Amino acid sequence: MTDFDAIVVGAGPAGSTAARELAAGGARVLVVDRAEFPRYKACGGGIPLRTERMLPFPIDSVVEDSVRFLDVAWRGSMRFVRDSGTPFAHMVMRDRFDALLLEHAQKAGAEFRPGTTIRNANENGAVTVEAADGFTATAGLVVCADGAHSPVGKMLGMGYDIAECGAWEVEVRGAERQQGYEARALIELGFRPWGYAWLFPKASVLSIGIVLPREQASRMKGVVRRYIRRLGLEGHEVDIARGHKIRFRRGNERIVSSRALLAGDAAGLADEFTEEGISYAVHSGRLAARNGLRALGGGDIRQYQRDIDAEVMPELRAARVIGYMFYGMLSRNPRPWMFASARLPFLWRAFFAVQRGDSTYARELQQMPGLWRVAERMMGPA
Ligand SMILES: Cc1cc2nc3c(=O)[nH]c(=O)nc-3n(C[C@H](O)[C@H](O)[C@H](O)COP(=O)(O)OP(=O)(O)OC[C@H]3O[C@@H](n4cnc5c(N)ncnc54)[C@H](O)[C@@H]3O)c2cc1C
Repeated sequence: MTDFDAIVVGAGPAGSTAARELAAGGARVLVVDRAEFPRYKACGGGIPLRTERMLPFPIDSVVEDSVRFLDVAWRGSMRFVRDSGTPFAHMVMRDRFDALLLEHAQKAGAEFRPGTTIRNANENGAVTVEAADGFTATAGLVVCADGAHSPVGKMLGMGYDIAECGAWEVEVRGAERQQGYEARALIELGFRPWGYAWLFPKASVLSIGIVLPREQASRMKGVVRRYIRRLGLEGHEVDIARGHKIRFRRGNERIVSSRALLAGDAAGLADEFTEEGISYAVHSGRLAARNGLRALGGGDIRQYQRDIDAEVMPELRAARVIGYMFYGMLSRNPRPWMFASARLPFLWRAFFAVQRGDSTYARELQQMPGLWRVAERMMGPA
């Protein structure tokens, strides 16, 4: 006897999207999260416009700014600005954005239990989850949308072998977008072998952060401090400062078992060019619901992994190749590469088209098959 058809662990973009679509498809759904909502999430909150296209409701109420200028520099110099004409990304605060997605899941019929930290999960005919406060529930399906650490995915034997990197974010108050950051995303390059710092404008804070390889995680706070100083913002109050990891699925790591599947960061669905993961979290949440409903009706749950491999992985692989070439060339020859980047409009047209959802990294790369082959040979196996 099960309590629910599906339990979704984690009410981030992956979990709330899966819960909404499972409930809309007629399933009895419980969403649990260890946090009370709305909750803070370390994140730049930069949402490519293509994310909005995947959601069946407007998100305007939580959009704090929409950016059309990309302002790029290499260690504070060689700066250039690209104007995409119209916005290519929205800026949100994750507490409000995630709460909106959860609200829609609840409207569709999903039940939400906040403050519920899952400490145990086991699969035995059905899946039973057990929370720290003694709460237990059983379902025919569990969606592990429990973020980059994915403790529950690991309890169910998945997600041990996924690559990762570090990211650190601070929110600077009192330097609102009126200070010239409106509609503008700043990207600071010059980190070896790869990585970038960012400044993303919100209505009442600036999100400033850094993403670097895992081995350099201990440098992140210092790098952000120096970046803030270089921007002339060191006098402003820092609201929140927090780090988290981001994971990258590179090959065919297993993300499905007989009754559970991983979605979003739990499955390592973030790209290695921009290191963003929200749009892939929403996409995988939809695929989790589609396949979850099918599996609850007797279908093969393993189709989920095949769908991720067909719909999401080509994009993550293409982003990895682009990231490898972009950061590799930049590390070796910063001056000529920055000079060329500033003067090659087709590069940025392609980037903005991908952000808006009018193209994909894979499609853009297909137009340069030689580059793809060279990069894959240089990168070696995943
Ligand atoms: C510093 C930083 C900046 C970033 N900036 C961007 C950006 O600008 N744009 C972008 O697209 N991506 C960005 N990302 C990546 C993005 O944050 C993630 O890809 C995205 O949050 C993934 O969503 P998710 O739903 O998979 O997981 P999450 O949003 O992490 O949600 C997971 C949820 O699971 C819950 N949970 C975890 N363990 C348990 C448990 N045991 N029991 C119950 N609940 C549990 C957590 O409380 C959490 O609410 C950034 C990441 C970092 C670290």
